[in-house]
Amino acid sequence: MSAPVVVVGAGMAGLACARRLAQAGLAPMVLDKGRGIGGRMATRRVTLADGGALQFDHGAQYVTAREPGFAALLDELAGATGLWQNGSGRQRWVGRPGMSGLPRAMAARLEVRQSVQVTGLHPDGRGWRLETDAGTVLASAVVLTVPAPQAAALLGTDHRLAGALAAVHYAPCLTLMAAFPGNLQRPFLSQASDSHPLAWIAQDSSKPGRPQGPTAWVAQASPEWSAAHLEEPPEALAGRLLPLLADRLGLDPAQALFAAAHRWRYARVAAPLGQPFLSDGTLWLGGDWCLGARVEAAWQSGSAIAEDLLARGLGG
Ligand SMILES: Cc1cc2nc3c(=O)[nH]c(=O)nc-3n(C[C@H](O)[C@H](O)[C@H](O)COP(=O)(O)OP(=O)(O)OC[C@H]3O[C@@H](n4cnc5c(N)ncnc54)[C@H](O)[C@@H]3O)c2cc1C
Repeated sequence: MSAPVVVVGAGMAGLACARRLAQAGLAPMVLDKGRGIGGRMATRRVTLADGGALQFDHGAQYVTAREPGFAALLDELAGATGLWQNGSGRQRWVGRPGMSGLPRAMAARLEVRQSVQVTGLHPDGRGWRLETDAGTVLASAVVLTVPAPQAAALLGTDHRLAGALAAVHYAPCLTLMAAFPGNLQRPFLSQASDSHPLAWIAQDSSKPGRPQGPTAWVAQASPEWSAAHLEEPPEALAGRLLPLLADRLGLDPAQALFAAAHRWRYARVAAPLGQPFLSDGTLWLGGDWCLGARVEAAWQSGSAIAEDLLARGLGG
């Protein structure tokens, strides 16, 4: 396989980059190890034994749109977005039918190969050779939009950009997805706390376009709690987190119809790079770790990489 430009990562950064390149007439190939599109803009769907449908945004909860370009994207893809009244007094943009709906809409006309993990990255002539679990891919230019520690592992310690990557740090996040019968109390739509092990709780089924019936809740453990319990198996984590959530809701954990936990090892950037990307002229490194822990920051990074690549006349 070969492509002029290979983008690794079908999260917001990679898709923003690939979409801009495609709009400029290039044909980037996007590779992602995941089965779904969107990276940390993730939506889990579950069917209960009685046929009931559940859906959880277990990664990003909503997006901000401070940049005019990102606001324009949300307008353009209006069918894949919606406004959520989350009880904070502010409206929040969310993806529809789940958070992954927005990246999926962005990927609609792109060549995205899912379930392809890049395992090695080697200079090859004037370009790059990517080793993947689906074979070798040759590219003139490579855009890596994976979390900084994963980019560092692919690059190796000798690469001249490796030092800058080492300065980037992430906080983990353990997330609980739980559902209770719809006729039980729902004391709030969302709640943030900086003193409780659960730093954020959202009534996910109150977002627009979500399945109705049971109430779907997402609860995110604080960075401290997440770090302390990071290596525990997901089943044990669900067992720990469910009573914490039930307590905040005034419910009995035994009433839960479903509970599962998800581990985000690289959830939120705690120490970003401070510039939109790194590059050596044929390799670009980007993602939310460049500018901050937000979907919009990932979009800014991916978009800036595309502009730089186009300005250098690469990828044609
Ligand atoms: C629990 C949680 C809650 C959050 N809440 C919010 C929020 O409310 N609002 C907000 O704006 N932001 C939030 N964020 C942050 C937001 O999700 C991220 O900033 C953003 O989605 C990052 O996009 P990205 O493209 O940089 O990275 P990612 O979305 O992580 O995309 C990277 C992609 O690279 C792929 N990949 C990695 N390694 C390889 C490999 N070797 N080969 C192939 N593919 C690979 C991964 O599968 C992934 O799809 C939250 C994050 C988490 C985890």
